[in-house]
Amino acid sequence: MALVVQKYGGTSVGTVERIKAVAERVAKTVQQGNSLVVVVSAMGKSTDTLVGLAQAISTKPCRREMDMLLSTGEQVSIALLSMALQELGQPAISMTGAQVGIVTEAEHSRARILEINTERLRKNLAAGKVVVVAGFQGVSNGEELEITTLGRGGSDTSAVALAASLHADRCEIYTDVPGILTTDPRLVPEAQLMAEITADEMLELASLGASVLHPRAVEIARNFGIPLVVLSSWSDAPGTRVTSPTPRPRSLSGLEIAKAVDGVEIDTNQAKVALLRIPDRPGVAASLFGSIAREAVDIDLIIQSVHEFNTNDIAFTVAEDALKQAEAVSEAIAPSLRSQPTATEEAEVMVDRQIAKIAISGAGMIGRPGIAAKMFQTLADGGINIQMISTSEVKVSCVIDKKDCDRAAQVLCQAFDIDSSTLPSLSASQSSAPPVRGVALDKNQARLAILHVPDRPGMAAQIFGLLAAKNVSVDTIIQSQRCRVINDLPTRDIAFTVAQGDGEMARNVLVELAKTIKCGEIIVDDAIAKVSIVGAGMIAHPGVAAKFFNALAREKINIQMITTSEIKISCVVAQSDGIKALKVVHQAFDLAGQDTVHVPA
Ligand code: ADP
Ligand code: ASP
Ligand code: MG
Repeated sequence: MALVVQKYGGTSVGTVERIKAVAERVAKTVQQGNSLVVVVSAMGKSTDTLVGLAQAISTKPCRREMDMLLSTGEQVSIALLSMALQELGQPAISMTGAQVGIVTEAEHSRARILEINTERLRKNLAAGKVVVVAGFQGVSNGEELEITTLGRGGSDTSAVALAASLHADRCEIYTDVPGILTTDPRLVPEAQLMAEITADEMLELASLGASVLHPRAVEIARNFGIPLVVLSSWSDAPGTRVTSPTPRPRSLSGLEIAKAVDGVEIDTNQAKVALLRIPDRPGVAASLFGSIAREAVDIDLIIQSVHEFNTNDIAFTVAEDALKQAEAVSEAIAPSLRSQPTATEEAEVMVDRQIAKIAISGAGMIGRPGIAAKMFQTLADGGINIQMISTSEVKVSCVIDKKDCDRAAQVLCQAFDIDSSTLPSLSASQSSAPPVRGVALDKNQARLAILHVPDRPGMAAQIFGLLAAKNVSVDTIIQSQRCRVINDLPTRDIAFTVAQGDGEMARNVLVELAKTIKCGEIIVDDAIAKVSIVGAGMIAHPGVAAKFFNALAREKINIQMITTSEIKISCVVAQSDGIKALKVVHQAFDLAGQDTVHVPA
């Protein structure tokens, strides 16, 4: 007999008929000889309706009362589904998060799960009942026993956390699409279903805007090796499997907070090429990386931060043995960029062999603003200057001076409790994986930039430490190559993106900070969109970046920022270009199929 956790999302329990259909499916799964825990979301759009009610009363409702309000949505569905099951003759009992014993941090509206006391669950399962659990909610640790919620979309996380705590055989996420598709079918109807995707890829996609799974659910599945599948509650099709390598054994206590960083990676076999003061217009990145791809040179990090006046700097790293070629191509292309009428100053190529890349990685850093800050602070305490920063949702990479590399590895391993640093390795699954598995769009971000930050150890640590103290989660951090000497002091620009709701708070933090450090202007733009491509195979396929940039250039879409990790490339573009950008990129990588996906309204 298998123990299965099933989760049904809002649309799947949106009406009485749908609830009855879910009950039928649940009862059938039990009849097939399984023991079942079912997690449900609030009916249809009822969470949005509750948010609307709160906003009609207060523009800034307190987070505790919001949790009190929003947690009621799920309570409606668990009772109704239990009744529907009982009506079918299937014994069932509904339970709130608190009744189950889903214990979380006392952090309203974004609580992380600390542990789940499975005793009461097991007792009911043993009595032959289906336990219907309210998703998205928990109860705080300590004496207060406050109702908490996990953050929007958090029922997926409840389900996978339950599966981990119960050592379930699998976790099935039922939703309103056939599974995980190459992109959001509501935006691109030609999106295709994938049979499987790695947890690493899905983590990036989920964090970059693919709302089909809550990123923290993927994180838990990956950390505990839970077999996870996403499938339609409308059909019996097999859906998409999210695959994870066999994880190291982990304790279930401190479930979502135990270890944020799994590894420290160093790569000393890298060199940096930077093109300075190139024109800020569509097509520049495409022609540069197109020329490089034609030489079959594989690039690693690419970083383009905010433009200044009408020029940009783009920097990238390559393996040392490919440096000569990369430099030659860049030198060859620079004159054509110089002749652009928009260029106010001469474009220039700069090469640096004396660099190393150091990265911390781990799924647990998602939504935990303090982790990147701690890395920067650790490096600063070691007197190590950061030349460039590029982040993905599960990795923070810094380019530093090669001579600092060993010390950086040592202090970071110590700070994050890692035994020893490793070299980045290309796994067999990466070289056989498709270069691009899926694309995602995030329209819900704001970009902030702080110009002319003094180029000395500790600046990034200070900025991101202050943001972390205010609980502002930073998505993409870019510290560019651009180095300006102002009053004899070298300075660099640091840019980052945050959720739009946090934009104002982040701005205030920077404005406060600007009073104490000498820096330039603070720029905020919330009319942006982030378009990303994700695929574990991209590292082994030169030309992926060029194809991405080219697709945008053909549509005259200007790239405002670029940031990469081994398995993803993200570009910030104007918000008005977002959907068009998603469509053309999806098409450029041949992800579209003939059939269109029907998505229930
Ligand atoms: P649920 O209520 O079942 O949790 P969600 O609305 O949270 O459903 O997630 C399902 C939705 O995610 C789909 O209707 C689809 O519009 C959206 N989506 C975004 N990106 C993707 C993707 N790559 N694959 C599938 N669905 C996606
Ligand atoms: N009902 C919650 C929401 O709408 C949680 C969820 O659906 O996962 O965000
Ligand atoms: Mg959801």
